[in-house]
Amino acid sequence: MFAIAKSKAERGVWSVDEPELQKPEPGMVMVDVIAAGICGTDYHIYRWDQWSSGRIRTPMVIGHEFVGRVVAIGDDVTGFEIGERVSAECHIACGTCALCRSGNAHICEKTEIIGVDRPGIFREKAIIPATNLWKVPDAIPDHHAAVFDPVGNAMHMVAAADVRAKDTLIVGGGPIGLFAAAIAKAHGARSVTVQEPNQARAAIAQSLDIDLVTNPRHENSRSDILDVCSGRGPDVVLEVSGNGAALNAALDLAAPGATVALLGIPGGPVELDLGGKVVMKGIRLLGITGRRMYETWFQVEAFMLKYPELIEKVITHRLPATDFAAGFQLMDDGACGKVVLDFDIFKQEAA
Ligand SMILES: [Zn+2]
Ligand SMILES: [Zn+2]
Repeated sequence: MFAIAKSKAERGVWSVDEPELQKPEPGMVMVDVIAAGICGTDYHIYRWDQWSSGRIRTPMVIGHEFVGRVVAIGDDVTGFEIGERVSAECHIACGTCALCRSGNAHICEKTEIIGVDRPGIFREKAIIPATNLWKVPDAIPDHHAAVFDPVGNAMHMVAAADVRAKDTLIVGGGPIGLFAAAIAKAHGARSVTVQEPNQARAAIAQSLDIDLVTNPRHENSRSDILDVCSGRGPDVVLEVSGNGAALNAALDLAAPGATVALLGIPGGPVELDLGGKVVMKGIRLLGITGRRMYETWFQVEAFMLKYPELIEKVITHRLPATDFAAGFQLMDDGACGKVVLDFDIFKQEAA
């Protein structure tokens, strides 16, 4: 069975031949993977940066964003049928800790992440806990259903920051920033600005029909943003770049009382003038991780059904799974929005 794994503790990911899976245990469901998105997390693991090299135990099959078809069902699982299409929440929460029991399973302290802490779904078949599966409506195409997870990250961030009638600045135009821009606009932000130095990504942001796309390296970027935000600066900042300098600049620009949501993971500690830029301005800082289970999933499903054209614009590349190296190269070059790998090729071969 074809799979993509972090086989060695160095830069890169490799194809591996995995043994066929056995019948799923009670509580588990086996899926044929149809399509899977390459996440920023997979790219961290590919680069073998400080975060990933500290967390991943090699060898590990990676990948966690997918759509699949149910092919086998564990003994005590009810509510699923063979052939149904499903995606899944990749954070496997314990279900019993205080956070899980108070509706905050997305920050469960015992979370295990598929493709990070346990084997991932970049493979022909995968076994997933039934509790984490999400049934995909027929109207959502495969390649859209494959990116429920990152659209969920964006949705969780936009909902937590509450963009309604607010001037909203998105720092970073990677896939999550682009999805967040589309969602913020649809959710009634007064204005939406994306700050992105990479031209290919800036062009995708332009196509989303938002108010301003700006290159932070251009000298008039700051004044252009202030113009869009009635001169006061953004009321909401969504930080998805993980870049400390960009965060500092955004805190400078933010209007007093602004909400600044942080989703990008910096490569190391970031220095901030907390007194001047946060405390004295009354800024509300929010850490954003994962998706609310399963409120965010309902919101993403509704968004995908209503705005398929926006999801389509952010998915720029669909490659056969065997061409995964080209997908990671696109991410290296920043020459893409979302890259989706097609795993259905193996069934077509077999048929
Ligand atoms: Zn992801
Ligand atoms: Zn828990």
